[in-house]
Formats: sequence, structure tokens, C-alpha cells
Amino acid sequence: MNLLQDRILEEGIVISDNILKVDSFLNHQIDPALMDELGKEIANRFRDMQPTKVLTLESSGIAVALMAGLHLKVPVLFAKKKKPSTMKEASYSAHVHSFTKNITTDVIVSAKYLTQTDRILIVDDFLANGDAATALADIIKQSQATLLGVSVAIEKGFQPGRKLLEEKNILVHSLVSIKSLVGGKVTFV
Ligand code: 5GP
Repeated sequence: MNLLQDRILEEGIVISDNILKVDSFLNHQIDPALMDELGKEIANRFRDMQPTKVLTLESSGIAVALMAGLHLKVPVLFAKKKKPSTMKEASYSAHVHSFTKNITTDVIVSAKYLTQTDRILIVDDFLANGDAATALADIIKQSQATLLGVSVAIEKGFQPGRKLLEEKNILVHSLVSIKSLVGGKVTFV
């Protein structure tokens, strides 16, 4: 997706050979018009599969997921990183290792919002090692809902996330795929 590639080239900051910072439009300050375009593109790709819900992980996936949900006309559910004291009902949870924070936490979704008849599209901002998407796929499995696929805004193609997910027969879609961040330079696949 040229629009997103251009923003990455203009505003992305390469932190290391495997981390890209996009705080000016996605991960801290958010550009709603850009998110709208990302959401539209994701919706166009998955509409025919008739998703009933979009699932993401708080907090950085929410902006893209919300716009995908808007264009698909379905609710957006986000897994919480801490069990809130207000969540008394049954829930599903899975461990997730954070790529950027290098810590492992539990993510949790109320059983009320995921049912056997749901057809779920996972949406996230980045795909790196695939841990976040794997945890969400695990939660979907617990609920017996159907996982349609994983759609991410930015895939880092030099990391193993896609391979890991495809080995589990999970459909992976990305709006842009980065080939390399070596030497502070972003190159796309
Ligand atoms: P994974 O679980 O696939 O290893 O990593 C995906 C999650 O880690 C995303 O939800 C995203 O928040 C974060 N992440 C992974 N790589 C990057 C990166 O290069 N930059 C930023 N800003 N976040 C990343």
C-alpha cells in the first residue's frame, strides 16, 4: 500500500536493525485519515469472508482495528492486558511475549464477546515474531469461534511471524511488508 509506505519512508525512525518507530502517525500520535484508509483496505480484502467481529490487542492495534471494523460494519473487540476488577464473568486468556517490551503477560477477553458462531478477523499494527497473533488465535480457539485470518498494517518480512502463523494454516495479510531495516534504511519487499 503506497500511502503507508510513503508515510513510513517520510516519518518512520529506524531504532535498530529490527525495530521501526512510527509514533507520529500510528503508535503514539494517530492520523485518523490514514487509519481510515488502512481500515478500508483491510475491509476490502476480508469483506467476502463475512467476518462478524474484529479482534485486536490493546493498545497499539486498536486504531487500525477500529477502522477495519467501521468499514466491515462489525464490532471491534480488544484483548486486555490486565484483568480488570470489573470483569467477573468467564473469560479466555493466553500468554503473550511483547516484542518491544521483552516481557510476557497474560491477555484476556470476556467469554461474553466471543461465541462459537463468530467469524473473527485479527488485526494488529505490526507483525514481528507472531506472538501477539498466536495468543489471539489461541483465545479464538478456546471460544470455538472461527479464525478467518490475520491482517497487519506493517509486516516485518525478515522476522518469522508469517511463517509461524502459516504453519498453523492461518491466513496472513499485510498492507506493507518490510524487507530490511539494516543500516537505518527501510526497504520494502
Ligand atoms: P509479534 O508479537 O508479532 O512479535 O509483535 C507484534 C507486536 O509487537 C505488535 O502488536 C506491535 O505492537 C509490537 N511490535 C513489533 N515490532 C514492532 C516494531 O518494529 N515497531 C513497533 N512500534 N512495534 C512493534
